[in-house]
Amino acid sequence: MSDLTDRPQIGVSACLARQPVRFDGCFISNPFVNNECSTFFDIHTVCPEVEMGLGIPRQVIQLRDFDGEIRLVYSKDPEKQITHEMREYSERRINCLPPLDGYIFKKDSPSCGTHKVPVKNNKTGMRNRNGIGIFAQAFKDRYPQVPTEDEGRLNDKGIRENFLERVYAHYRWRQMAEAENPLKSFRDFHRNYKLILMAKDNSAYRQLGRMVASVNNKNFTGISEQYFRLFMQAMSKIPSHGHHVNVMMHLLGYLKDKLDKKDKAELLDWFEIYREDRVSRVTPLMLLQHHFNRHQNDYIADQYYFSPFPSKLMLPV
Ligand code: SF4
Repeated sequence: MSDLTDRPQIGVSACLARQPVRFDGCFISNPFVNNECSTFFDIHTVCPEVEMGLGIPRQVIQLRDFDGEIRLVYSKDPEKQITHEMREYSERRINCLPPLDGYIFKKDSPSCGTHKVPVKNNKTGMRNRNGIGIFAQAFKDRYPQVPTEDEGRLNDKGIRENFLERVYAHYRWRQMAEAENPLKSFRDFHRNYKLILMAKDNSAYRQLGRMVASVNNKNFTGISEQYFRLFMQAMSKIPSHGHHVNVMMHLLGYLKDKLDKKDKAELLDWFEIYREDRVSRVTPLMLLQHHFNRHQNDYIADQYYFSPFPSKLMLPV
């Protein structure tokens, strides 16, 4: 049976989706998860602590450093650890999840946090912030190509944009793999991501191009696996304004015989204003889009560069 659905699938820490599963029986209402994500994605919620039987309400747990060994312990009784139980449960639960295109985790949680989770040193009582939740770590180990973020970081415009670009890229990749002619779909996938890859990582763009040029029916499985690893690495990069301006100049090249001097000069002005960070990228892109609407180009029309994901998912300007 096909795993393909008609929209991206994302995992979400259950407490972010209005489920009262926190240690005190509360939840956290995350507007992005409950509004935008619910509109555009199918959401799959998991609360590892409740599902493994810790109950609601429950004692607070934390990560603690015992001479370099990180354990999941009860805050009030740190000698009592549940590290192995949580690891075992996580493995089992993750194996039962449907194919996901992204995961939004609750920040700072010793089970779900993905970035800078507090870890208390058992000897000194000092905290550092270099931990990762046990369930989150197990998910990342099992699905290294699936984009993950914590809800707090998604309030940053650049991080949110990058996460959404990767979620949709992952989803389109799964669509490609399910297509009737995967070899052709693979080539189309690369073609349609060319401009995004040029902006993010020019060297990976060239390397990926060589892989696509060498693919055939016999080596497709091996090459496409290698391709996707490098592709998702490149997608995780956030391009500078200068890199975006290079892509815009490349786009202008497709219009060189179509525009008069005045239109070209206007575009170049906006590219520079964007380079200086005085307008968002949307302004020069909309102007470019306007010219491509008047001078259709099939290659450009297929590029995801102009809209890698629905713009309603972005933070309001
Ligand atoms: S952070 Fe994770 S474990 Fe904690 S309440 Fe939320 S979903 Fe459950």
